[in-house]
Amino acid sequence: MTADERHDQSAGAAAGQVPIRTTASLLINVSTLLQEPIGSLRRFEIDGARGAGLQSAVSGRLRLLRTDQSLLATAALTTSVTDLCGSCLNELVLELDVDFDEEFWPPADAITGMALEPPPERSGFSVVDGQIDLSEAVRQYVEMSRPMSPRCAEDCPGLEIEEPSEERADPRWAALATLNLTTEGD
Ligand SMILES: [Zn+2]
Repeated sequence: MTADERHDQSAGAAAGQVPIRTTASLLINVSTLLQEPIGSLRRFEIDGARGAGLQSAVSGRLRLLRTDQSLLATAALTTSVTDLCGSCLNELVLELDVDFDEEFWPPADAITGMALEPPPERSGFSVVDGQIDLSEAVRQYVEMSRPMSPRCAEDCPGLEIEEPSEERADPRWAALATLNLTTEGD
């Protein structure tokens, strides 16, 4: 069972009734969702979205759940980054899975208008002007999920260092060496 399926189960039958909206943006309007009851859901298929600080397009699934004070974003996304192979230093493209649960906090309760302060012990992001921007969350999780020392291939040969060897030695030097031997013996 995938994390997504577990989520659907825990959210009950309602999850199956929520239509999936396709979007090509990481900027999502949540002003209506914020006015809906706790437990309300939105499901999105993100298709090739670009965002600030992201090298490549982002695709995958996103679910937004209205909690008592915030929106819980559950994302299962993929994107790619370019990096250098830690062994041969050639450029490579890494496909990354970017999965996270993050809360987005509105500045005020959408219904009562009362100012809301995120609890200090909890992390998360802000709802700004009725929208959430997933770019920064994705950027942070990309940084966390990329390998410290990526390899272009399991059998990467590493850096090709030209080492001097007898076979590669200039044949003219070999001739000179012979000459020296004969003059020394004179
Ligand atoms: Zn390599």
